[in-house]
Amino acid sequence: MIKLKNSALMRDRCLINGEWISASDGREIEVDNPASGKIIARVPSLTGSEAETAIAAAKAALPGWSRLAAKDRTAILRRWFTLIVENADDLAALMTAEQGKPLAEAKGEALYAASFVEWFAEEAKRVYGETVPAPGTDKRIIVMKQPIGVCAAITPWNFPAAMITRKAAPALAAGCTMIVKPAEQTPLTALALGVLAEQAGIPAGVLQVITGDAKEIGGVLTASDTVRKLSFTGSTEVGRILMAQSAPTIKKLSLELGGNAPFIVFDDADLDAAVEGALASKYRNAGQTCVCSNRIYVQSGVYDAFAEKLVARVAALEVGEGHQPGVTIGPLIDASAVEKVEDHIADALAKGAKLLIGGQRHALGATFYQPTVLAQATQQMKIAREETFGPVAPLFRFETEEEVIAMANDTEFGLAAYFYTENVRRTWRVAEALEYGMVGHNSGLISNEVAPFGGVKQSGLGREGSHHGIDEYLEIKYLCSVIA
Ligand code: ADP
Repeated sequence: MIKLKNSALMRDRCLINGEWISASDGREIEVDNPASGKIIARVPSLTGSEAETAIAAAKAALPGWSRLAAKDRTAILRRWFTLIVENADDLAALMTAEQGKPLAEAKGEALYAASFVEWFAEEAKRVYGETVPAPGTDKRIIVMKQPIGVCAAITPWNFPAAMITRKAAPALAAGCTMIVKPAEQTPLTALALGVLAEQAGIPAGVLQVITGDAKEIGGVLTASDTVRKLSFTGSTEVGRILMAQSAPTIKKLSLELGGNAPFIVFDDADLDAAVEGALASKYRNAGQTCVCSNRIYVQSGVYDAFAEKLVARVAALEVGEGHQPGVTIGPLIDASAVEKVEDHIADALAKGAKLLIGGQRHALGATFYQPTVLAQATQQMKIAREETFGPVAPLFRFETEEEVIAMANDTEFGLAAYFYTENVRRTWRVAEALEYGMVGHNSGLISNEVAPFGGVKQSGLGREGSHHGIDEYLEIKYLCSVIA
């Protein structure tokens, strides 16, 4: 059992139209703790017909919600924010139990998730239109922004709370209604957010949480003409499927897909800061974030020193079950995640990489893996081409700025990139040359609610967070009024 202060947050039913329901055929999904493999809960395995019910409820709730004064939506969202903060310890306990991340990181995520609700509660009041000087004196031109309508979100397991609020908060702030389909691995956090939304006074049908068969529910949500917008965070592969499925209804899409982040350390970097940045960016969530650095490029003048310092810091990481005090790396999400890590390491070693630390499953067993550093990585290795999504840092040596920019951009992905330099001219050159949606300069952590999060190339479409984030849920309407 997961110990919670507020046991009402533990739900084994889905939220549809203000009711907490089970699957009509009684089918369930088992939720396990990745640290132990033990089943910790069962949630409904809903099907397409229940997704249809949710769509109808979202449609019915839309007029009431969208016509509320923005200030009233702000007040309700603000209550949701406060409740998330007040229940952050319980949300963290749920996340650690179903996802594995260390408790301190999970608490950080709960507050990060809350920050999107606070931000968009405020932004609800700032959906400004425009007046445009007309080409003739007889006309007035007005541009207004209106909620797009019924929205759906399909979210991943690596951030069970934040990926939901980053989508639901702007949608609701804009006046849209939303159906959330969380990842099957982490439904408990999503359902707890639904409980808090209900307590905050978010009306029935405005925010619904449905768990179940991803393909079937995804098929219904994308095929529906009522659902005008889909926001998805997950793999590029599934993003492509959802984009294709959304084509017949010309649905508006936000896609936050895979990354293959380069982390570049120039000779003139503050080396200790670069090591700390690499550590934070690589090993957070055991390497399971789409903005985790995947390729660490180090200029030859500081390569050996950087490698030595990084290995010393990695050796001090504490692997273990996320509720244990002091643990900094939890388990990977499942067996196939471990297999991918093993495959990438084996491929790299076969192609000439050198193991500096780690490289084995952890003695704790299950899906625990040793934090690993590899030297002498090259662009030909799988680890350079594909997202590893695990605690493995491959170090690549480079000589010139030009060479490293070419290597960094040599990928179909374009989500996050990082570089460390103390040279101001180089800072601008490199920041502008990197083909990425987000760039960290002298920083390994770049995500926050005030900045636009999103990628270019095959890393996705659209931006989340920031004042741009709400635009994803708005349509522009232009009114031409002839007054003469
Ligand atoms: P990951 O590989 O990180 O698990 P996925 O892209 O497979 O990422 O999953 C992200 C989300 O997409 C999850 O909520 C999952 O249930 C959902 N999903 C996976 N496959 C499909 C699909 N064919 N249609 C709709 N949703 C899907």
